[in-house]
Parts: sequence; structure tokens; C-alpha cells
Amino acid sequence: MDALVQTKNEILDIKKRISEEMGLEHGQIFSAHLLVIEDSMLIEEVISKIKKEKLSIEYVFQDVLKKYIKVFSEMDDEYLKERISDINDVGSRILKNLIGAKEDILANLKEKSVVVAYDLSPSDTATMHKKNVIGFATDIGGRTSHTAIMAKSLEIPAVVGLETITKNVESGDTIIIDGTHGIVIINPSAKTVKKYESERKRLVNFEKHLLELKNLPSVTLDGRKVHLAANIEVPEDVLSVIAHGAEGIGLYRTEYFYMNRKDIPDEDEQYKAYSTVAKKMKPHPIVLRTLDLGGDKFLSQLEVPQEMNPFLGWRAIRFCLARPDIFKAQLRAILRASVHGKLKLMYPMISGLEELRQANGILEEAKKSLRKESIPFDEDIEVGAMIEVPSAALITDILAKEVDFFSIGTNDLIQYSLAVDRVNEKIAYLYEPSHPAVLRLIKNIIENGHKAGIWVGMCGEMAGDISMTLVLLGLGLDEFSTSPITIPEIKRIVRSVTMEQAREIAEEALSLPTGKDVEIYAQKKLKEIVPDMAIEME
Ligand code: PEP
Ligand code: MG
Repeated sequence: MDALVQTKNEILDIKKRISEEMGLEHGQIFSAHLLVIEDSMLIEEVISKIKKEKLSIEYVFQDVLKKYIKVFSEMDDEYLKERISDINDVGSRILKNLIGAKEDILANLKEKSVVVAYDLSPSDTATMHKKNVIGFATDIGGRTSHTAIMAKSLEIPAVVGLETITKNVESGDTIIIDGTHGIVIINPSAKTVKKYESERKRLVNFEKHLLELKNLPSVTLDGRKVHLAANIEVPEDVLSVIAHGAEGIGLYRTEYFYMNRKDIPDEDEQYKAYSTVAKKMKPHPIVLRTLDLGGDKFLSQLEVPQEMNPFLGWRAIRFCLARPDIFKAQLRAILRASVHGKLKLMYPMISGLEELRQANGILEEAKKSLRKESIPFDEDIEVGAMIEVPSAALITDILAKEVDFFSIGTNDLIQYSLAVDRVNEKIAYLYEPSHPAVLRLIKNIIENGHKAGIWVGMCGEMAGDISMTLVLLGLGLDEFSTSPITIPEIKRIVRSVTMEQAREIAEEALSLPTGKDVEIYAQKKLKEIVPDMAIEME
């Protein structure tokens, strides 16, 4: 209701302003908009659908709106046909206000709460930053969805993809969120609560113990240095990055800067934010990934059409190349900020050489314009490509000649190579980082990168999956970039093994026929080498 009232007030305001500035007859156009808001049939249909289908209000509203538009477009009456643009206009306004209203709820919780929802978008989750949400559980989603990734950055327990959690939990219930095992327990017995309290204490102590490694180097027993960096979504995450002893940022998901706001951040605003991060992390490097919009990350202020397959659609570098105005502003901001620390730049979703060249072409234009204006920037700034599309992984020998580094984005690489939507809980069992096809692709990327003399990192969630650390190390990965809280665990494993051991483990893993075989083998090796780190498998 709040969103409707807010929308009505906005339209009344516009109507008044236009009538004053352009005359009454122009202002009357907005009377038609007001009629759409007051249409009781539309509102009743939305309410009854939410009750019946238990879907989010934004989703249902959009669905009902689409149905209305279809009905109007099939009408013979020209006047009614013309009302489609009114419905569209008002619909987008209400949707924007609906999203805003939800942001407010999550950002302004009065007491510490566990949020249980059908779905939370990455932008919903971003509003929880350091607020009163102490955990969440959702019906839909996968473990590498951006919502789940955000939970790690927020350092709160979360379980996504439970399918029916909203049906089983009532407000006021006591619930345990066991993020390690992906379990939620509703109204647990006193015995279970006690067991979990002592498990929580154990984990807190274990983390403290791991933090003692904070200032020690991440080197193998035989002296190979491995770079351990962190992934961040917002500048505030830098505190946690430093607290966990990361030696830089291997992935700064800059798109979060564009979320939950009504406008696009301009060059100056971005320059200030990136400069702050650069100064705080100095002398450590920061890899800024350019805008990776799309997939499961949407921006309400951009008119991006809905797609059947958003992960295969107009996203990331594809969007940026189509909107050089937005892309160039970001590139200029990054370049300008590069004088305040060690910045590197990285393009998401590169699928072929033409795309990489086009992106580099726009980067050159941005550099040229800065030189012309005598604005300083790091002329030697490193430029890298995320390798997260199988086609790019298979031509890394070609791509390596035109970049300074690769960073493997396993979240997308796995979903594209195994054809498993990363946010779909129904097929989550098929999402296997240990799948032999994935291991072969990773091996190929690292080998091709090294042959061309460039470094290869990994910033997908697999880099923080401790059961895979020994294998990745053995494959020769140069940098692991993961959520700050996971860094001490990876460091502990790196410091417990020799490269010779790791190479043998990788070789054996590559010879196994299924993902399950690899997983069992890798867990066994982890247990042998670092016994207290292995996670018990169900
Ligand atoms: C990835 O795809 O692995 C990645 C790190 O990018 P994102 O999760 O933001 O898609
Ligand atoms: Mg990705």
C-alpha cells in the first residue's frame, strides 16, 4: 500500500507541476495515470495471487501488469490501446517504490532479526549491510548466487534454496541457521540449542586461532608464494579484508555501487569511492571489475528489458559495450583513482577476442581523453579478463597475448560449462566445482596464462572452497581471491603442504572420472594434510 500511496503522491506532484508550467491540458495526461493506480481489479488480482502463489509482490505485480498490457494491446479501440504507455509508466513507478519500500524494511529493522523470505535479490541483501539482520534463509537460490555470496561478506549465516522454508516458519519462531551444512532447524529442542551453542563457540575459537596466521606469509612448505586476496562488494568491506590479513583485493564487484539508488553514479562519485579503497589498501593491489550488471543483479534505474535467460543475455561487458557513456565514465573514474594506490582493471564475461579488443579500445579512448585534459593516471595499469565463459577458457592462448592477467570466475564458468543455473535450487546437486570438465578447463586456463607469462588468479567461490585448495594449488594457481573470512583457512592449507605434494594431488584428481570421486579424494587428502580443517561430509 505504501508504494501505491507514494506513487500516487509522485504523480499528483508531476500533474501539478506540468499544469503550472505547460497548461492544464498537458497536466490532464496524468489523470489517466491516476486511474491506473486506483484500478481496484488490478490491485485485487495482485493480492489474491500473492496469497495463492506465495511469490514476492514485485514478481506478482509485474506479472499481472504484463497480463493487462497484453489484453490492452489486443483491443481494437485505439484510445484504449494508447493507454498501454500509461500502464507501463505507472507500473515502473510502483515497482520502483515497491523495491524502495522493501529496502527500507531490511535496512531499518529495529531489533536483531533472522529474515526468512521466498527470495532476496542481491540488492535487497546489500541493504542489510551491518544492519540488524543476523541471518537469513530463503526458498530459492543457489550457493553461488550473489545473495549467498553477499551473506559471506556480511559475515552472517545464511541458507538459500530451501524450497519451503517460508511455509514452515512463523514470525517469532526460534530458528538455527547452520550455514556450514546448509541446514535450518525450526524451534529446536533445548538439547539441540546447547549442541549448536557449543559448536558456535568452537568455531569462534577456531577462527581466532586461524587469525594468528594473519601476519605470516602465504607460502607452501617448500617456499612457493601464493597471493591471497579478498572479494568485496562495497568499500566498507575493506575493514574485514585488512582484519583477515588479505594481501589485496582480487575482485571488487563495482556493480553494487550502482544498486539501491535512483541514479547512475557519475564519474566523480565513482572516482572518490575507488580512491578511498585504493588509499586504504595501499600498497596492496585492488582488482576493480567493471560493471557486471545482469544475470541476477539488476539496477532499478536502468531500463533493461526482461529476458528469458538473463544469465545468457545482455549482461556485463555486453551491456557496457552497448552503453559506452556509462562504461567510459567508470573507466575514467578507475584510471583517475589509480594514482592513489595500486589499481588493476578487469572486464567481466569476456567471450571472445573481439569483445576484449572493443573494451580495450574504449579504455584507450578514456586514457586519451584524460591525457588531453592533463589528468594523471597510472599509465602502466594492469588490465585483465575474467575467464568465466567456456569459449574464453578454451581460447586463453589467444586472449593471454592481449591482457596482463586472468582471473577465473568459477561461479559463472561452472554454470555455463555444466549448463546448471547457479541460482536454481532444483538443480543445485549438479553444480559441481569438482566436475572433471571444470578441472580440465581450469588446468587449460592456468597453463595458457603461464605459457604467455601472465599471472592467473581465481575469484569465484571455488577459490574459497577449502576442499579444492590443494587441487588448485597443484594446478599452479597464482592467486586465490575469496571472501575475507575464508582467507585464514586457505592460508593454513597453503602453509601445510609442499608444491610437490599439491601437484601429485592435482594430477590424481584430474585422472578421476566423476565430480563425486574428485570430491571424496580431495576431502581425504585435506584430512590427511590438515586434519582439523576437513568438513565432515553428509
Ligand atoms: C564468477 O562468476 O565466478 C565471479 C566471480 O563473478 P560473479 O560471481 O560476480 O558473477
Ligand atoms: Mg561472474
